Amino acid sequence: MAAGEPMTEGAQQVTAYVAIGANVGDAQSAVRQAMKDLGRLPLSRVARRSSLYRTAPVARSSAGSADGPDYINAVVALHTRLPALELLDQLQALELASGRERPYPDAPRTLDLDLLLYGDAYIDSPRLSVPHPRMGQRAFVLVPLAEMAPELISEEQLHAVAGQAIERLADGAS
Ligand code: ADP
Ligand code: MG
Repeated sequence: MAAGEPMTEGAQQVTAYVAIGANVGDAQSAVRQAMKDLGRLPLSRVARRSSLYRTAPVARSSAGSADGPDYINAVVALHTRLPALELLDQLQALELASGRERPYPDAPRTLDLDLLLYGDAYIDSPRLSVPHPRMGQRAFVLVPLAEMAPELISEEQLHAVAGQAIERLADGAS
């Protein structure tokens, strides 16, 4: 902590990247609402937000297939002083508040919030793995991240997901 900083502030500020996905009901509204809700988390503010993107559902494992309508995806950069696990708690509370139900793996969901990066931390705990273990395989994460923070993503990483269909939505599209 820098000299002179009050001790009551909690953890040091980090930049955390959060992926937002929704594919049930009015997914665009759900993603926009999630962006607002993220900005209201304690000790946190939204520093940057990506465009909204439309993508086809992707299964978690290459063997399975995900179903449901297209996803709307986006990424936000949060400046936060929440510790990583408390941030995860807050993300899961927002998921629950959106009425999320998970009857089976890869089921359609009203809201999915994944913590992609927490500063430059490497975390491997039962509830939380950071950097998110599957982010490098997902165009819907890498493309919005590259829009916001191109220094974080290499051409090789983008090339690896170039076969996945992803469409950037026009600003303000509804
Ligand atoms: P996914 O997003 O991978 O499709 P879920 O949203 O259902 O699947 O998350 C399953 C579990 O993953 C959560 O209960 C959470 O504890 C765990 N998890 C591990 N690392 C992360 C992370 N970086 N961000 C969000 N959840 C994570
Ligand atoms: Mg998730």
